[in-house]
Amino acid sequence: MTIAQPAIAAHTDANLRHDWTLDEVQALFSKPFNDLLFQAQTLHRQYFDPNAVQVSTLLSIKTGACPEDCKYCPQSARYDTGLEKERLMEVEAVLEKAKAAKAAGSDRFCMGAAWRSPHERDMPYVLAMVKGVKELGLETCMTLGMLDEGKAQRLAEAGLDYYNHNLDTSPEFYGEIISTRTYEDRLGTLDNVRKAGMKVCSGGILGMGESKRDRAGLLRQLANLPQHPDSVPINQLVKVAGTPLENAEEVDPLDFIRTIAVARILMPKSHVRLSAGREQMTEEMQAMCFFAGANSIFYGECLLTTPNPAANKDQALFRKLGINSEHKVTQAPAELEAILASRPDESAQYSRVGV
Ligand code: SF4
Repeated sequence: MTIAQPAIAAHTDANLRHDWTLDEVQALFSKPFNDLLFQAQTLHRQYFDPNAVQVSTLLSIKTGACPEDCKYCPQSARYDTGLEKERLMEVEAVLEKAKAAKAAGSDRFCMGAAWRSPHERDMPYVLAMVKGVKELGLETCMTLGMLDEGKAQRLAEAGLDYYNHNLDTSPEFYGEIISTRTYEDRLGTLDNVRKAGMKVCSGGILGMGESKRDRAGLLRQLANLPQHPDSVPINQLVKVAGTPLENAEEVDPLDFIRTIAVARILMPKSHVRLSAGREQMTEEMQAMCFFAGANSIFYGECLLTTPNPAANKDQALFRKLGINSEHKVTQAPAELEAILASRPDESAQYSRVGV
């Protein structure tokens, strides 16, 4: 007996779309699971090595006391989460962390600050961090809040490769989560980042009480930007005691995997990043996410303030799955273990779950 297989046409750049309707995106979410994953994996193979995953390290360069009210975030000054606030790190200390990240196999170093937007007085330090990390041979990424055109331009001139600014959720649900900045503010920052010539990293968070329609709405919004984000982080909420979302309902793991697959189909050339929440995922779930088209992770023990699988656990999973870092680890295993063992527990230092 011959079983009919879904026909999947070869995808070319000319097929990249920016006009998805909500119905179309919801129809993808409603596909039988195996058909959806087959479609996502087929597309994934047209643009990427299916056994390579890009690896980034994230460092909180300024922690806590953020004036914004994002309900998921332990760094907001409005919620009592017991988080220790920290001032902007010294440039040299940031560069030391970047060196360790490079030695441990990261190819991109992301620096996050809990700000509404960067203050003028902080810009010289931030620009020095970008230049220093670039000189180490790492790609650079920052997430500093809203950016106007001038600051975006200066960061680009310093050599910043990527800027992260998430849309977080659908335009309709957004007001339930944040009141201190609008969806339009966020789109404006993404526009300024693009105009300055930097790459855009933008995604969202699942598990904040949003509906399936909101998840489709978020992905539609990202895919319908004038240019797809180069990097699309999909976070699973890490519930932090003291935040308004500490008791939010869990995301069904299969729904999370579906979201990764739909992101891959809508934005076939973008890196889809399995981001916050990986600590709560089984190896099997992470493997399914990679099969669905995720091809980027954060590496290391902490994701700003929330735990992330230890780097050596990630390496063990990569070995089991036959996955390579997009940029091969150059450190000999014994040296790498020594670096990892020497890292202090940094869990108190970091914050924010959605990157
Ligand atoms: S997500 Fe960012 S902007 Fe929102 S409260 Fe946290 S640090 Fe501030």
